[in-house]
Amino acid sequence: MTKKREVTQLDRLESVREALKIVNAQPLAEEARAALAKAMQTTEDMIDQLFATRPGGRLEALYRVSQVLGTSLDLDEVLNQVMDAVIGLTGAERGFLMLLNPDTGELDLRAARNYEQETLTPKEVEFSRTVIQTVVKNGEGVVSTDAQKDPRFAGQDSIVFFSLRSILCAPLRARGEVIGVIYVDNRAQSGIFTPADLNLLNAFATQSAIAIENARLYTRTDKALAERVAELETLSKVDHELSSHLDMDAVTALTEKWALAETGASRCLLIHQQEDGSLALMNKPSQPADGGLDDALSRAVRQALTAGSAVGLDPTDGIPARLVVPVQCAGQPACALVVERHEPFGDAARQFLPRLSSRAAAAMENARLYEAVQEANKAKSKFVSVVTHELRIPMTSIKGYTDLLRQGAVGPINDMQKNFLGVIRNNVERMSALVSDLSDISHLETGRLKLNSTFLNLADQIEEIAATLTPRFQDKQQTLEIEATGDLPKVFADPNRLAQVLTNLISNANKYTPNAGKVWVGARIEGDMVRVEVKDTGIGISEEDQAGLFGQFFRSESPEVREQQGWGLGLNVAKRLVALMGGEIGAISAVGQGSTFWFTLPTYALAVDEEQS
Ligand code: ADP
Repeated sequence: MTKKREVTQLDRLESVREALKIVNAQPLAEEARAALAKAMQTTEDMIDQLFATRPGGRLEALYRVSQVLGTSLDLDEVLNQVMDAVIGLTGAERGFLMLLNPDTGELDLRAARNYEQETLTPKEVEFSRTVIQTVVKNGEGVVSTDAQKDPRFAGQDSIVFFSLRSILCAPLRARGEVIGVIYVDNRAQSGIFTPADLNLLNAFATQSAIAIENARLYTRTDKALAERVAELETLSKVDHELSSHLDMDAVTALTEKWALAETGASRCLLIHQQEDGSLALMNKPSQPADGGLDDALSRAVRQALTAGSAVGLDPTDGIPARLVVPVQCAGQPACALVVERHEPFGDAARQFLPRLSSRAAAAMENARLYEAVQEANKAKSKFVSVVTHELRIPMTSIKGYTDLLRQGAVGPINDMQKNFLGVIRNNVERMSALVSDLSDISHLETGRLKLNSTFLNLADQIEEIAATLTPRFQDKQQTLEIEATGDLPKVFADPNRLAQVLTNLISNANKYTPNAGKVWVGARIEGDMVRVEVKDTGIGISEEDQAGLFGQFFRSESPEVREQQGWGLGLNVAKRLVALMGGEIGAISAVGQGSTFWFTLPTYALAVDEEQS
């Protein structure tokens, strides 16, 4: 009987809805459209309510509103959706949704809505705390048809004061825990809610809790991801800065800069343990740290260095909070990175500092290795310098006595003896060239090679060197062509060193060009510089070999090169000398197509500028 009447009402309402839709399709004045929208909404609400009160209709309604849930991952939006759906389902006047704050254990009001789906103002937020606390405590929902007369709540202040009557409240549960409550009420009317409504609300609360947890999780994940991305960006900047320095002081300064910037610390220290066990500041070695550190910090530093793990100290009695992180180089604690500030350090700082420390460790290790390589280089240069010096004297004497013997100054010699003495003489020449190159390199590396630069006429220099090398060109029936005009500006260079560079390039062209080939030497002005080129029609240089050119002891593996005498030091010395004289050197070549070696030198004008500065 009831069922029939409701269905009839539903039929009527649905035909009203259809009629309103037709009107809605017509052009309407703004006011009329607003009134129509309201009428359409009211009709929808009434249909919803009829659905809800129909046997089986509640479930249908629950299903319909549940579908709305989960369409958003924005927590506030989800909470409002839940609230509106609950009010729509139960026909309540107002609804509140509270979530337990995991940090404080308190219930925070997160949504407060009325029947019109409006958010309530703080003044309108009036609910029964007793009902809510009972629900949270027991984990079970409560329905009161008339709270004013309900023996469980009647005497409670909020019930009396806010004249609450119909109340429905259900717990929100996620993973077996109560995470909050949904509360709806009606102040004016009693008997609005029934136990069936509570069942419905319980079912809905279960689904709402899942949607709320999803939104919370998403927010947390989203936030955590954004934080991680920001941290990675920072760390990539840290990496970039740290890896571009090989100097220990710069590395420690950068580490301190980043530690201060990212942890909000007011002071940062890098402390290491010295051989005698005392602590010292890394970048201010003159200042012993022990004296300047309070006992608590000294203990924390020693503990962090021994255990190889971070130590945190809370602020006490005017002593700031500290975070001490060991910096491990090759598995050994190299030093401790300490930050301090008045407020305790948060998780972000605790997570950032060890990451910074591992990067600082790598950069410190590089700086240390670089220092060690520099030291080794110095030691090598010193060794070469001593050896070359000591070899010069006996070689000069071998050369001198060989010449005397060859010239027959101490008695006649036969042809074979003369030949052998010639071989000795040649090999001593080779050794002496090597010793001379090695000695130059050692002087250049240690900065002890001093130039005697002066203003030179380059064309004269080229002619002179060419003349001394002419016999070698004749031996190989090669043509040597020179194209250096006399109107070139003077260059500022050391004549002996310039001769050394020219000799190396021109004799290489002669060595690595087959018989009857051609070598061309030219010079021309190029901006502020003079560019000298030595071009040959020789064997050329492969791309792979070009990468090694100008390196120490570099010689191509090709048999045409190996059959020539050489140590692979000439170009290296030439490159350093040209750089010292303020120019650059390079080569353009292709296998079988000859090579062009070039270098530049500053002209008169530039040299004067430099002299004056
Ligand atoms: P060296 O001539 O004593 O080997 P250099 O340092 O003068 O030493 O030259 C290094 C290497 O560069 C040579 O061994 C050779 O492989 C290559 N090279 C130099 N000049 C030429 C050139 N003009 N043509 C071809 N290869 C050359």
